Amino acid sequence: MRQYMAFKTKHPDALLLFRMGDFYEMFFDDAKLAARVLGLAPTTRDKGTNPVPMAGFPHHAAEGYIKRLIDVGVRVAVCDQVQDAREAKGLVERDVTRIITAGTLTEDDILDERANNFLAAVAGGVGGPGAGAFGLAWVDLSTGKFEAEDVPAEALGDSLRRVAPVECLLPEADGADGAEEHPAVGFLPEGCAVSRRPAWEFGRGDAHRRLTGHFGTATLDGFGCEGLGPAIGAAGAVLAYLEETQKGRLGHIRRIEPFTAGRYLALDRTTLRSLELVETMRGAERRGTLLGVLDHTQTPPGARLLRRWILTPLREVGAIEERLDAAEELVGGRHLREGLAERLRRIYDIERLTTRIACARASARDLVALRTSLDQVPELQGELREVRCALLAGLKGRLDSVPEAAGLIASAIRADPPAVLAEGGIIRDGFRPELDELRKTARDGKSWIASFEAEEVQRAGIPSLKVGFNRVFGYYIEVTNTHRDKVPEHYIRKQTLKNAERYITPELKEWESRVLSAGERANELELEIFHEVREQVAGHAARLQATAQAVAELDVLLSLATVAAEGGYVRPRITEAAQLIIEDGRHPVLDEVMDEPFVPNSVAMDGREVKLLVVTGPNMAGKSVYIRQTALLVLMAQMGSFIPAKAATVGIVDRIFTRVGSSDEQARGQSTFMVEMVEVANILNCATDRSLIILDEVGRGTSTFDGVSIAWATAEHIHERIGARTLFATHYHELAQLAETLGGVRNLNVAVREWQGEVIFLHRIVPGHTDQSYGIHVAKLAGVPREVVQRASGILAHLEEHAVRPDAGAESQGKGQAKPRPKQVQMSLFQPLDAEVREEFLKLDVDALTPIEALQRLVEIKRKLEGGGK
Ligand code: ADP
Ligand code: MG
Repeated sequence: MRQYMAFKTKHPDALLLFRMGDFYEMFFDDAKLAARVLGLAPTTRDKGTNPVPMAGFPHHAAEGYIKRLIDVGVRVAVCDQVQDAREAKGLVERDVTRIITAGTLTEDDILDERANNFLAAVAGGVGGPGAGAFGLAWVDLSTGKFEAEDVPAEALGDSLRRVAPVECLLPEADGADGAEEHPAVGFLPEGCAVSRRPAWEFGRGDAHRRLTGHFGTATLDGFGCEGLGPAIGAAGAVLAYLEETQKGRLGHIRRIEPFTAGRYLALDRTTLRSLELVETMRGAERRGTLLGVLDHTQTPPGARLLRRWILTPLREVGAIEERLDAAEELVGGRHLREGLAERLRRIYDIERLTTRIACARASARDLVALRTSLDQVPELQGELREVRCALLAGLKGRLDSVPEAAGLIASAIRADPPAVLAEGGIIRDGFRPELDELRKTARDGKSWIASFEAEEVQRAGIPSLKVGFNRVFGYYIEVTNTHRDKVPEHYIRKQTLKNAERYITPELKEWESRVLSAGERANELELEIFHEVREQVAGHAARLQATAQAVAELDVLLSLATVAAEGGYVRPRITEAAQLIIEDGRHPVLDEVMDEPFVPNSVAMDGREVKLLVVTGPNMAGKSVYIRQTALLVLMAQMGSFIPAKAATVGIVDRIFTRVGSSDEQARGQSTFMVEMVEVANILNCATDRSLIILDEVGRGTSTFDGVSIAWATAEHIHERIGARTLFATHYHELAQLAETLGGVRNLNVAVREWQGEVIFLHRIVPGHTDQSYGIHVAKLAGVPREVVQRASGILAHLEEHAVRPDAGAESQGKGQAKPRPKQVQMSLFQPLDAEVREEFLKLDVDALTPIEALQRLVEIKRKLEGGGK
């Protein structure tokens, strides 16, 4: 218990797993917590004067239990026996070998193989929330990927959403009480664990020393990271944490890469969510997302890389074209695709295997899996023999089958080794003469014992005589009671059973000790050899990682090409001009999941003559689908994918902004309208003339007057000041009038056919605007009771009759219009002084007013307007 307490004191914030024989035991509060979380039966140690609550589980089942502890946010410190119990004089030496947290998992069975498991740290931003620039660093310990980025304050949330860490390190707040919450906290994904670390670990100087120390370099220039600011501090904090939790086993973290936001098409967090790129808005599932459609990858590293490509599309024409060339070559070569897929299917997760090997956690089966994977590499190169494009040819060159490692594993490790290391049967015959010798001795002994049995049956004349073995007595001779009188003199009795006696002889014991000691030493030697082999393979970690990366890229390109070939996608033309021309584009996800055929639609914006499209049309017509689809197609094109369309020209976009819907945000506790306006503000402040803006029903969250006004002014500002390519879907028909005054605006609407009193949505986007809402029709479709639908039609007819005055109150212009209104000459919305106030003004005899009276009248009028101006 003293030994236990010493470790517990060193790790007060972790649940301590204390290895005792074949079990991990927990004591005191840890035991109670584990009993509750894991449903273990609690017991008591020292039942007498000093009872200690205790709980435990067998070590071989540890992974599952640890996972459940991590899931509820518990840190786990693993205290192992670091000395062979047989050699121990007194207490077995123990030490904490690892601290496990959500962000430092490497276990295959626990991790999602198709997603990265990132640990992040945020540095900088000193001087309170929002101030200064931040540094962000993130690592996937299970793969060795380590990256850092300097982030402007306003982009911290976007970057954190993109990285989506499972655990985040933040500096301890220095103010003792009432310390402000760190600005990053609000941006962390749901379920992300926060670990506070000493603030000095985030300082640039300290971090720089730690990083260069780890990489064995003088500067970070070689990684292109020397110029980073607070990101270095964040990276240092990450490394410090890994050193502490992994106890030094970090050989596979061989480099750090700068994440240069300027190279990528920027997606803010709202866009990420609302375009449903990697998870759906509801349910956070992969099905029904762009990732779900595009993911035909064969390997886990490929799946992880594809997700990354989706979240970081490119911005440079050259780099995009390179990927498109590869996709084109693969789309055109069906045999090539099938051959590559066939090979990739047999490749395991080389990246994570390498990590486990480098951390000395790999099993014999892991080594075999690595070898089988490496065996496929020359085959892959063979498949790539005749490729022409630069990217594929380059990949062929980067694939390295690391023959030294593969050969070593093949000659040392049996093809089908047992899962447990300690029981032998791992190392091949012929690999190490000493081992062969020991095995031979053990084998010979066993066959001597077998022949001994046959001889004794003869010699003693006891047909039922048997030689057996158990752990307590070792080898023994068993004679049933019927033959007891025939037992020879020199047998030494060891044990009496119900119907038999057990004996030994000195000769048998001698052979036994040869068998046992040879067997035992063989097992020990096997383990030793295994560790040697594993360490030698670990020496090739960098090359293995490079191969894993090349395999992943190939896998992603193949996946994109496969989807393109099967879905009839086309190669987009990528240009530097601000164009966006899509002919018969389809929504990649709906196109795949819908039962009815998807209706293709086109987009034509040249960025000068036409740059803002206003899409009007009734609810449920297909406005939202159309504008989102456009954003998705641009994104796909810039990640180097073919797109579902007949033809397309995409001028490079620097950022995609979307403001879609408003009903989904309520859970976040802010007023929906406030959220909507924050996002509009973000767009208006950050968009450039190279951006693509998708606005869906902006202004819906407030009253009609407010809403139309804001929508109008927003569209005007984008058109006049920003010049970004914009698609604006709205049910405010008034916005169609923008096209009359603004040169770059075009109206579109969604075709609807009325047929035998029914309304049919054709989902086809056509030029021109509409002023029909068919709201009552939608209500009918939705199952609103017939009486209500009929009554609504009646009210609508009444309203329309009274709404023919050109300057009529705009309340009647909202949803629910079923017939065309006379076209208005001018927007009436911007003279909202109502008749009453106007009358009052006209009646005023200004000459007769005293200054005081004038002021009073002004106050009255203002109050009236404020009260009724909603
Ligand atoms: P709106 O935004 O105009 O109210 P949506 O864009 O949300 O309408 O579309 C409503 C529904 O119509 C979609 O859920 C989809 O089922 C269908 N739809 C939309 N566009 C198409 C299309 N191009 N082809 C086939 N169905 C479509
Ligand atoms: Mg909509």
